[in-house]
Amino acid sequence: MRVTVRKLGAIGVAALYGLWSVVAAHGYAFNEIVPDVRQPVSVSGGSACPVHAHQLTGAGSLSFRWSTVLGSNPTTILTQNQTPTGSLNEIEQTVQQSLSVWTNVSGTTLTPASLAPLTRISSANVCSVDGINSICFDQPDMAFTPGVLAFTRVVTADTIGIQVGSGPVSTELGQILDADIYFNPSDSLTSFATPQALSANPGSYDLESILTHELGHTLGFSHSAVWSAMMFPFAPAPGTFAGQRPTTQQPDAPLADDDRTGLRVLYHDPNDTLYVGSIQGHIIPANPISLPSAPPGVTGVFGAHVVAIDASSGAVIAGTLGGWSCTAPGPVQFDGNYEIDQLPVGQSYKIYAEPLDGAVAPSDVSNALVSLCRNSTTDPGWPPLQGCVVPPANTTFTTRTRPSP
Ligand SMILES: [Zn+2]
Repeated sequence: MRVTVRKLGAIGVAALYGLWSVVAAHGYAFNEIVPDVRQPVSVSGGSACPVHAHQLTGAGSLSFRWSTVLGSNPTTILTQNQTPTGSLNEIEQTVQQSLSVWTNVSGTTLTPASLAPLTRISSANVCSVDGINSICFDQPDMAFTPGVLAFTRVVTADTIGIQVGSGPVSTELGQILDADIYFNPSDSLTSFATPQALSANPGSYDLESILTHELGHTLGFSHSAVWSAMMFPFAPAPGTFAGQRPTTQQPDAPLADDDRTGLRVLYHDPNDTLYVGSIQGHIIPANPISLPSAPPGVTGVFGAHVVAIDASSGAVIAGTLGGWSCTAPGPVQFDGNYEIDQLPVGQSYKIYAEPLDGAVAPSDVSNALVSLCRNSTTDPGWPPLQGCVVPPANTTFTTRTRPSP
């Protein structure tokens, strides 16, 4: 039997921003941004090390609105309640529930209080780079290539003090200034159903799963190569949903531990004492000349999927894209380094590395890869000493683990 998987697009529109001197290693598959070091240190931080794209998490700092303009011929958003008012309320409930999935992960500063009240707008085509986070169900876009069910367009600050449209002025490097979610409105074979309507419409995609995934992009995630992750780039089959449904007791139930760990890296609660474990290492070639056509400066395996597994349960706790590190003032070094942070302490872990040669390919995490470097070709006038070129992901290696000392 063949299963058709459909792709969820992710579009990062690199823009503006900047803040501290990063001596970061790196991250999961986050969307990164290299601060614009052509600008004064006061607004760029002076370091060309990438910064994770992220939202601010102060009270009411994360706001979304959704457009009530829906496709009607054919209907693309299916609800159980068929009255106009009831249908909109049901969709809004799904949006609220999807947001609450991400704001109820323990050990993070992204809490329900971070959310501003969800608002509606009755205009069409409100998804634009205007500094307002919007969700659109009926807006065409060039990015809807065949198979794309939904995508998210994110604008991230690469200096402090910048703004798009009427949005907030950036106060941190990597601050997301605008994030819009587009659902495919024009594919007559594609429809989405609320959780209440899904079982009666088994040919539809689960609105809650797709929206929760796209909201992950608005929070700074790229894609994950972990099969069970919400941020896996392929949608659950029609009539099915990702993970478990959220409950009052566990609002974040749809997420996998990989998603939770990534969220803890992006928004770690400084008061948390449980998720403070870290594992670091290098993936290096047994024979340095075996690196396929590696550009100068590439000394390790780049683009490996590195996974931490709980040694007792076998559960995947987190995966990351390995192969680089960065120390201020940058640029990124492609030295095979990986680091998996915010792991629960008091556990033992096993680590494995695999090439991205399966269902998830480097192109599915391209935002996380290409955003690691800027140079004088991508940005005229870029200082050469802080420039780099992202090498191709290595998809052909095999691994052997060195015995512990
Ligand atoms: Zn996606």
